[in-house]
Amino acid sequence: MSDQDLLISGGHVASFDPAIGDLPGGDVLLRDGRIAAVGRDLAASTPGVPVLDARGRLVLPGLVDTHRHVWQGALGGSTGKVSLSGYSGAVIGGLAPFYEPEDVYAGTLWGALQALNAGITTIADWAHNLPTPEHATANIQALHDSGIRGLFLYGGPGPDGLAFFGRPAPPHPEDVRRVHAELLPTGRLRLGLALRGLAFTTPEATQGDFALARELGVPISVHVGMAGFPGSVETLDRLGLLGPDVNHAHANQLSDHEFDLIAATGGSISLSPSVDMLMALGTYPATGQALARGIPAGLSVDTTTGAGSDLFTEMRLGLAAERSRANAAAVTRDEAVATVDLDQRDMLRLATLDAARVWHLDEEIGSLSPGKQADVTIVDLRPPHLDGFGDPVTTLVMGAGAADVETVIVGGEVVKARGALVGPYAARARELMHESRARLRGRAGLPAA
Ligand SMILES: [Zn+2]
Repeated sequence: MSDQDLLISGGHVASFDPAIGDLPGGDVLLRDGRIAAVGRDLAASTPGVPVLDARGRLVLPGLVDTHRHVWQGALGGSTGKVSLSGYSGAVIGGLAPFYEPEDVYAGTLWGALQALNAGITTIADWAHNLPTPEHATANIQALHDSGIRGLFLYGGPGPDGLAFFGRPAPPHPEDVRRVHAELLPTGRLRLGLALRGLAFTTPEATQGDFALARELGVPISVHVGMAGFPGSVETLDRLGLLGPDVNHAHANQLSDHEFDLIAATGGSISLSPSVDMLMALGTYPATGQALARGIPAGLSVDTTTGAGSDLFTEMRLGLAAERSRANAAAVTRDEAVATVDLDQRDMLRLATLDAARVWHLDEEIGSLSPGKQADVTIVDLRPPHLDGFGDPVTTLVMGAGAADVETVIVGGEVVKARGALVGPYAARARELMHESRARLRGRAGLPAA
């Protein structure tokens, strides 16, 4: 027995493993960082293993955020009333250039802890504020220190050196190789490339960027289909660049043909309902188009500067948006709609098993299946807003927030217990974040908070 062994006992287990399904009053046994068993009355066969009483709780696979700019963790609420253009000016142009490596560390650590606090155990960190190798090292160190699992998606100019979002051009190809040598493809943190894509650079530069990723054999993420940037997937297709290693972020305004191209080439889509709609990237998130074609799709927060930091909000908004989109034609004809399709459980799947598929991690995470990583999120269902009559997953999706997440476990390590973050960096992270905010305000000429 290792000191990470734990029996989670008596909760409503929503496994998302088709062979197991839901187990009211079920047990989950964690052993050596993996899920050893899911079933009922496991205590009798596991003498001596510590027991976590999960009665009145919902036991879930750790949530997966498929796309987030984690370095912006200290900037919550900084872009309340802006579109994508306003965000680009205020954050990418206005604050990002003032980040030194220590600010990237503080923002990323705080951002990763925000995610863990909300039950997100795996995150795809779209890291695009890395003007020097020292910034990249700080970003990776912060992810590591937080205890989260995820992908470090290295964003920056490719071999051409063309600026990325107006930032100067560092020698990133060499540094990507350095990081590639350091991050093991099977470790808790893995490498991918956050590429500029056709919205932010030239076709020639895009070809160079994709070639680098494929030479290294690491996955790719690009922003596509945002209002004002038409035809991005068609052009990627014309350049012969689409494939199962390509994750398409947002994908709001793509044509049916472009969705078909993603489906045919095995690519995935990250949905960000809050940002997609609040920042006017498109009319609706691409949820329906992705699901209709079997495209692996997963929810994401994208940026916390103008959205929340938890995936429950994204599930709610995504469900409302997709039902609105699916029924818009009938409602416009003033017809009564008899039934609706997508349900709350579908949305939770988009934040667990489907989100794991987006990054080809579904053999490792995304469901409570024996053999998978011991990544578990436990939500307290006893407060008035969550103690419901029907399916607890429905209640969860419609009402839960980060404060309801009681316990979070990553690879068998408890990072949140009894409703509070634990671990060596939880207290220090707040200090570092506040110090960084003060520096950023000073450098940007903003009044002190
Ligand atoms: Zn993004």
